[in-house]
Amino acid sequence: MRPYVSAVIPVFNEEENLRPLFERLVAVLDAMGRPYEIVFTNDGSADRSGEILRELHAQRPAQVRVIDFNGNFGQHMAIMAAFEYVRGDVIVTLDADLQNPPEDIPRLIEKIEQGFDVVGGYRRDRQDTWFRRNASRLINMIRARITRIEMRDQGCMLRAYRRHIVDSIATSGEVSTFIPALAYNFAANPTEIEVSHAPRAAGHSKYHIYNLLRLNFDLMTGFSLVPLQVFTMLGFAVSLLSAILVVYLLLQRIFIGPEVQGVFTLFGIMYFLVGLGIFGLGIIGEYIGRIYLEVRKRPRFVIREVVQAIDDQ
Ligand code: UDP
Ligand code: MG
Repeated sequence: MRPYVSAVIPVFNEEENLRPLFERLVAVLDAMGRPYEIVFTNDGSADRSGEILRELHAQRPAQVRVIDFNGNFGQHMAIMAAFEYVRGDVIVTLDADLQNPPEDIPRLIEKIEQGFDVVGGYRRDRQDTWFRRNASRLINMIRARITRIEMRDQGCMLRAYRRHIVDSIATSGEVSTFIPALAYNFAANPTEIEVSHAPRAAGHSKYHIYNLLRLNFDLMTGFSLVPLQVFTMLGFAVSLLSAILVVYLLLQRIFIGPEVQGVFTLFGIMYFLVGLGIFGLGIIGEYIGRIYLEVRKRPRFVIREVVQAIDDQ
C-alpha cells in the first residue's frame, strides 16, 4: 500500500537516539491510522547507527527504509537523497536527536490538509547554546533581508511538504543547498506553526563553527545575488566619496596650503578600503566556488545500499 505520510530523518552518529526516536515516532504515526513510511538516511555514521537502522528495518520491514550513504555528505544531501525515494503524499522532515518532538507531526499534517503546501515549524524556547541562538537570530535577520524568503526560523528542520514540492526539490540537482529555503522557492501557499524544541537527547551537535558558516553561505549565495550587488553599490559609493575628497583636498591646497598631518588618516582610510576590497573578493570567491562545484557535476552523494522490503524495489 502506498504510504500517505513519509517521515524523513538524516542520521549522522546518532546511535543512542535512534531507538527512543523510533519508538516515539512509530507511536505517533500508528495513532494517526494512515499508512506511513519512515526513510532514514545514514550519512556515513562511524558509530553503530547503521546497524541499529538495519535492526529497525527488520523490526518493521514494511514501514522502514534505510538509505546508506558511502560517506558523510551532509544533512541537506541526506534529506535530498531521501526525497528521491519517498512515496508519501505528505513528507515530514525531522532531526534524529529528538530535538524535534515527533508528537508535533500530526499538527503539521493537519495544516497540510487545510491546503498549505509547505508547513514550517518555528521553535518555541529553542534549546541550544546562547551562542547558537543569537548567531542564528542575526543570520536569520540578514537572510530574511537578502533572500526575501519569509521564514521565521530557518534552522528548524521539523517541516512538512506536499508531494509536488518534494518532487521539485529532488529534481533541482543543486550541490550546495538548503532544503527549507528551496521549498519556499516552490511553495505557492506556505505557512508556519509553532513547534516545541528539546535539548539534544544524547550525543553532541554535528555542527561546529566552520560547517555552520559554510551552510549559511550556501543559504545566502544559493538564494540571492544581493551580496554581490552590495559590493557594486559599495564600490560606487566609495568612488563617489573619494572624488569628493580629491576636490576638497585640491581646494584646500590652493587656498590654505599643503597638508602635513594627514598621513595616518590616509593609512586608516586605505586599510579600510583594502579590507573592503578583500571582503568583496571573498564574496565573489564564494559564488565562484559554488559554480565550480556545480560544473564538475560530480554525484552529490553516493548511496552504498538501500535497505527496504522486496516489494518496495
Ligand atoms: N546530520 C547529518 N549529517 C551531517 C550533520 C548532521 O545527517 O553531516 C543530521 C544529524 O544526525 C541530526 C540532524 O542532521 O539528525 C541535525 O544535526 P544536529 O542535531 O547535530 O544539528 P543542530 O541541532 O546542532 O543544529
Ligand atoms: Mg540537533
